[in-house]
Amino acid sequence: MTISFDLDDTLIPGVKRFNTEPQTFLQKLCGIEKLRLGTIDLIQTLQAQGHTIFIYTTSFRKTRKIWWTFRSYGIKPDKIINQTIHEKILGENRKYYSKYPPAFAIDIHIDDSKGVEMEGNRFNFKTIIIAEDNPNWTEFILNTISA
Ligand SMILES: [Mg+2]
Repeated sequence: MTISFDLDDTLIPGVKRFNTEPQTFLQKLCGIEKLRLGTIDLIQTLQAQGHTIFIYTTSFRKTRKIWWTFRSYGIKPDKIINQTIHEKILGENRKYYSKYPPAFAIDIHIDDSKGVEMEGNRFNFKTIIIAEDNPNWTEFILNTISA
């Protein structure tokens, strides 16, 4: 399956706070963004199971910067979709959706937003919504995907 992850407040702390992966001196020096604790193992496990991993964010971070952030932790996402790419692909239809995973052949999108969950129910795409205070969030994702 193709599985996409939101960034802000799902894998990267922002408004929502959670424990993060340890950073090397070099990562700190380069100002690399912190990733939620468990992200490295989760994405590597999913890729080892044969899943394709996309990052799907409504932020305007450069795709190259996002790729390097993950690469510095030893993870290679298969594709990065930022707001620029989202708007380009959806064109006029972008006003209807904050995110529309089917446009990128994504089977399941993982996010922190209840709004995205509601859009999924309305427009018929699958989501997994993760709370910031769920210490077993990676197990929850793995179990839901393999169910
Ligand atoms: Mg978010």
